[in-house]
Amino acid sequence: MLFFNNIRFQIAATAVLIIIIFDYLRNPHLKLMSTNAFRAMLICTVCNLMLDISTVYTVTHLDTVPPQLNRFLHQLFIASVIMVLFFNFLYVLILNRNQERLTKRTFGAVIAPLAVAAAVIIAGRLEFFASDKGAYSYGLMADMVYVCGLIYLVMTFGIIYSKKCTLSSYQKISVQVGMFIWLGSLIVQRIFPTVLLSGLGCVLMVLCVYFSFENQRENYDAETMCFNRNAFHRQMAEYYANRKPLSIVNVTLENYERINTMYGHEYGRKAMLCAKEMIDGVLGGSVFHSRSNTFTVFYSDCEVDCRKLESLRHALCSHCFPDAQLEFRISVIDLRKYSNGTDEAYELMRFMKEYGKSSDEVICRLDDSIIEKKFRRDKIDKLLTEAVQNDGFEMVYQPIYSTEQGRFRSAEALVRMKNTGDLGFISPEEFIPIAEEKGLIMDIGDITLRLVADFAKRRTLTDKLEYIEVNLSGIQACAPELEGRLTKILAEYDIPPAFINLEITETAALDSGEAFDTNVSALRESGFSFSMDDFGTGYSNLSQMNQMRYDLVKMDKSIIWDAFGKGNEKSERLLASVIRLLKAINVKIVAEGVETKEMTDYLTERGVDYLQGYYFSKPVNEDKFLEVISA
Ligand code: C2E
Ligand code: CA
Ligand code: CA
Repeated sequence: MLFFNNIRFQIAATAVLIIIIFDYLRNPHLKLMSTNAFRAMLICTVCNLMLDISTVYTVTHLDTVPPQLNRFLHQLFIASVIMVLFFNFLYVLILNRNQERLTKRTFGAVIAPLAVAAAVIIAGRLEFFASDKGAYSYGLMADMVYVCGLIYLVMTFGIIYSKKCTLSSYQKISVQVGMFIWLGSLIVQRIFPTVLLSGLGCVLMVLCVYFSFENQRENYDAETMCFNRNAFHRQMAEYYANRKPLSIVNVTLENYERINTMYGHEYGRKAMLCAKEMIDGVLGGSVFHSRSNTFTVFYSDCEVDCRKLESLRHALCSHCFPDAQLEFRISVIDLRKYSNGTDEAYELMRFMKEYGKSSDEVICRLDDSIIEKKFRRDKIDKLLTEAVQNDGFEMVYQPIYSTEQGRFRSAEALVRMKNTGDLGFISPEEFIPIAEEKGLIMDIGDITLRLVADFAKRRTLTDKLEYIEVNLSGIQACAPELEGRLTKILAEYDIPPAFINLEITETAALDSGEAFDTNVSALRESGFSFSMDDFGTGYSNLSQMNQMRYDLVKMDKSIIWDAFGKGNEKSERLLASVIRLLKAINVKIVAEGVETKEMTDYLTERGVDYLQGYYFSKPVNEDKFLEVISA
């Protein structure tokens, strides 16, 4: 009876511990050093509780239990107490160091109190008390070990209160609450030795750690049933901290957004789940849902097996919704070779994502030639930032010929970078997408319009031309503040918006969706007109044009060049019908890339309204442009 009276707190503790263990075992775990430390802490807590109960039994049955066994079990019990506190400290230390492995010196300092405790446990004195009021043990062994335990608590507080602590405030609070609970239970037990609270205190401390750090919901994505972005970051930090060789394989569902819009969220979710299962089945290992449309698997080898990647491609093609035409890309990055830390790794992942979009390959492997391209891109990025700050852009103008009036009536303004370092000429086709990605495009848009407006005002272009065409990038087209920005600049130079025709490619317009529609209405209201650029390269949505959103359609040079290529009758017929079709819906047509007299005559004959191309003039600077149009 005395035994059962004495273990009521331990029974409560066991119930709590079973819940923690059950929840812990249900979930998958990351391969982190901190995970191992937590697991060790959990195992020590289980031992501690079992030994706690066993020692209560032996101390309440001193007459029947051999004294050596009683002392031995007490030694183990006391050792388990110190081990829980040691692992609690180690756990916080590892988290704070971002999973970095301990140096020998740090390790020596960390285990010093443990060594002292071990010596006392082996040789220290321990007394036992048992009466009908209760039973407990006391003496130097217990006292010294609690002192060592307190040292670990103080050291843990030291980490939490250090300036360099990397834990979040929520995590700091949870660890502290846990330690105070344990400390409180110890104090109560010292004052009332028969109230054996320390085991329960210990379990509650573990519970606090569990809910703030180790609870897998922090690391798990319930929707795709794999590790989430947070877990990915933690795992990556661990790998870099310990300098393990590794590669990653990213599987990106390129048209995930479109699938969601077309087939609904549930369908998109199933596609993601299916992709995850295929990756799991073919590549194995832990799968991370590292970005909304990307899964990542770590590889401990640098060389990723080509055959496996091929089978993955095959599995994804044949099993994951072929009817929805799921487009995906598999990219492989040897992080060990090409990066030194998590920041660089993320940058490579971002770069590969962009690179993948412009590549035809389904499986892209980062190699030296791709890295060269990345260096070029980084250089351009730097040059662009400088150019935005230091007046580093200029405009060139390409006159546009009116077939009806037989003279130049408009022009397209095209941007150039003044300083391109050792990179030579950089086409806007190359630097505009980089500016978009780096968030510089709105500034560049303002700068180019300002240069155009300034030129128009200085040289009274409004008297010489009907309008100037200015290119809008996709990002500009859907920026909510677009109308305000553009009208403000034109007002500064006293240029009417009707003098500016904004060109946007149909793909960019489609991708911009509603935001673009709102902008078009507002800009039209202010007086701007619009051109659909690069017609014939995108989806060529005729119903869009029929709604009269565009005043002009610019046929892409490729349609024209194809028609004038050798033996290309089909393309010639296509060009002729495109022109007829556009004329039927009453939009004005501009033909780009007109390079020869033959093209000029053909297009004029078929009623194309405007011609633009090297046959008339290349894009030229201001003075040259004025010369050309007044010739
Ligand atoms: P785009 O709007 O289709 O511009 C036409 C491009 O074709 C220009 O190249 C022009 O120099 C070139 N071109 C014109 N006629 C001929 C020809 O007869 N033969 C050949 N081979 N090429 C011809 P550029 O200036 O390199 O511009 C490339 C692209 O960069 C533009 O394509 C446009 O999408 C973008 N871009 C240029 N300036 C700006 C700008 O100020 N803002 C934005 N957002 N994009 C710009
Ligand atoms: Ca254009
Ligand atoms: Ca164009």
